[in-house]
Amino acid sequence: MPAIMDLLTPDRYFSRITDVDIERDLLGAGLTHVLLDIDNTIRARDTGQVPRDVGMWLGRARTAGVAFCLLSNNWHKDIYRFAGELSLPIVAKAMKPLPPSFLRAMGKIGGKPADTVTIGDQLSTDVLGAHVVGMKAFMLQPLAEQDLHHTLVLRNIERAILGDRKPEPAVNVMEGESL
Ligand SMILES: [Mg+2]
Repeated sequence: MPAIMDLLTPDRYFSRITDVDIERDLLGAGLTHVLLDIDNTIRARDTGQVPRDVGMWLGRARTAGVAFCLLSNNWHKDIYRFAGELSLPIVAKAMKPLPPSFLRAMGKIGGKPADTVTIGDQLSTDVLGAHVVGMKAFMLQPLAEQDLHHTLVLRNIERAILGDRKPEPAVNVMEGESL
């Protein structure tokens, strides 16, 4: 049984989903299935919109063969319409970090823990839940600062866990890339 700090430590940490390189960080790492958080991961909590670059990244990843299932603790009816607009399967009211929703979402797209990664903006739901079922977890900085009150309390705990850890730079601005 891994220690709780290991369960809460993201495998990768990026500032934005567009910094995840589809070939290198997903397909090249054997990660062909993605469970994708919605709020503040691909949709800004303040505007309710998917930023244009994020939408384009999703399109590129799907074209490249990555399978996505949305996985959200959101319980509002509009979450299903949102999934419909993106033409993506969804497991909502997920009660992350509890395992059942992760297993159900993985099953919807035919993933296994070894080839699936959860991408989200919260340690205590996205990262913890992914690790409990044995899959990898990529953490992102939240798209918008505005958050629910109970989330803001958790953010302080996340800051304590992440410490000085900084998001990885995007590939195209990485120095010394030509080995
Ligand atoms: Mg979120």
